[in-house]
Amino acid sequence: VIILGIETSCDETSAAVLADGVELRSNVIASQVDIHKKFGGVVPEVASRKHLENLHPVILEALAQAGVTPGELSAVAVTYGPGLVGALLVGVAAAKAMAYALDIPLIGVNHLEGHIAANFLVRPDLEFPLLCLVVSGGHSDLVYLPHRGDYRLLGRTRDDAAGEAFDKVARALGLDYPGGPLIDQLAQQGDPRAVQFPLAFLEEGSLDFSFSGLKSAVLNYLNRAAMLNQEINRADLAAGFQRAVVEVLVEKTMLAAQKTGVKTIMLAGGVAANRGLRELLQARAAAAGCRVVLPPLHLCTDNAAMIACAGYYKYLRGDFAPLTLNAVPSLTLGQDKY
Ligand code: ATP
Ligand code: MG
Ligand code: FE
Repeated sequence: VIILGIETSCDETSAAVLADGVELRSNVIASQVDIHKKFGGVVPEVASRKHLENLHPVILEALAQAGVTPGELSAVAVTYGPGLVGALLVGVAAAKAMAYALDIPLIGVNHLEGHIAANFLVRPDLEFPLLCLVVSGGHSDLVYLPHRGDYRLLGRTRDDAAGEAFDKVARALGLDYPGGPLIDQLAQQGDPRAVQFPLAFLEEGSLDFSFSGLKSAVLNYLNRAAMLNQEINRADLAAGFQRAVVEVLVEKTMLAAQKTGVKTIMLAGGVAANRGLRELLQARAAAAGCRVVLPPLHLCTDNAAMIACAGYYKYLRGDFAPLTLNAVPSLTLGQDKY
C-alpha cells in the first residue's frame, strides 16, 4: 500500500510517500517561515498563495525522491482541518484532483490525528489503549485512545495553546517567529527557579489547561523591569516560563494516565520537540511505571509523513472521503465531517 500524503493546513507545504505505513520513501517540506517571520506570525492570505505556488513542485519532488509514479499510488491522504481555510483548500483541491484523475481513494485526515500518527510511523507495534498529549501551535489536548482510530478528548486548553504561549513570550523577548525552539534553546542556559511564575492547575482534578495567565505574568514581569530600568536575564526568564508550562503539562498528563489506567504515553505536535517537556515527562512517567513514546524531532512539527501515516490506517479501514470533501477549519478530533 503506497500512500501520498499532503499537508497545507498552516505555513508548511508538504508531500510525502509512505509504503505500508512504516517505510517513509520521501517527506518534502517547503516551509514559509522566512516569509511570515517579517510579520511575527502566519499571514493567512500569504500562506494560501505560497501553498498554491509550492504544492505542485513539492508533490513532484516527493514522488521523484520516492521513485514512485502516480500510477503506483494506492490512495491520496490530505489534511482537511483544522487549520487556515484558504491554506487547507489548496491541499484538498489538489488531493481531490489527483484522486479523481488517478481513480484512487481520497482520504481526509484530521491534522491532529496526523500529529498523533507521527508516533505510529516509528512505532507501528504500539498496543492500545494509549494516551497522547498533543501540544502544538493551536492545540493543547489530552487525548485517550481506547482503540485505533478512536479519539476521546479528556482535556484541552481554555485559552492559549502551549505553542502559542511559547511564540507570544518569545515575541515579547524580541525573538523571531516561531519562538518555541528559541525559548527551548535559551532555557538550556537559564535557571528555571530564578524567576517563579504561577502554575495554572485550574480546579482540582481538571485535565484542562490555561496558559494566558502565565503569558500575562511574563509580560508584566518584562514591563515592570523596563519601567524600573532593570536588566533582565533572558535565559532565566525563558527557563522559568518553560518550567511553568512543562510542569503543568506533565502533571496533568500523569493525572490522565492515572485516571484512565493507561501505561503508554505519547507526545505529539510541535511543542513535543521541547527538550524540557521530553525530559520531565520521561522522568515522571518512569517514576509512575509508565512508558513514554516520543516522535522523532523532525516529525513533531507539520509534515506530510504523519498525514500519510494516519491515512494509511484509514485506508486499511476503508475509511474514504467523497470527492465533495471540503476544508473544515474548526474540525475537532474524533469528529469526521465528510
Ligand atoms: P496545530 O497543529 O495546532 O494546527 P501548528 O500546526 O501551527 O498548529 P505545529 O506545527 O504542530 O503547530 O507546531 C508549531 C508550534 O510548535 C509553534 O508554536 C512552535 O513555537 C512550537 N515549537 C516547535 N519546536 C518547539 C520547541 N522545541 N519547544 C517549544 N515549542 C516548540
Ligand atoms: Mg508551522
Ligand atoms: Fe500542526
